[in-house]
Amino acid sequence: MASAWFGPCPHCNSALSYLEGVTGSTMKPVCPRCKVAITVVRATFLMADNSRRIPYAKDAARPVIRSDSDQ
Ligand SMILES: [Zn+2]
Repeated sequence: MASAWFGPCPHCNSALSYLEGVTGSTMKPVCPRCKVAITVVRATFLMADNSRRIPYAKDAARPVIRSDSDQ
């Protein structure tokens, strides 16, 4: 079942839409802004969240994901 949530890119802090379970989802979607793969726990398709002009603060809550260095 598809679902979506919004959060920052863990690399460049851009506002992103995380679309889970949609066509084109992958376990390592690439950030549309910094082009770095983000490892996620559910297949996700990333889209830039253009409705959010102000980037997330550096101390904003992060999505629950594993960084590549944890593997
Ligand atoms: Zn990024």
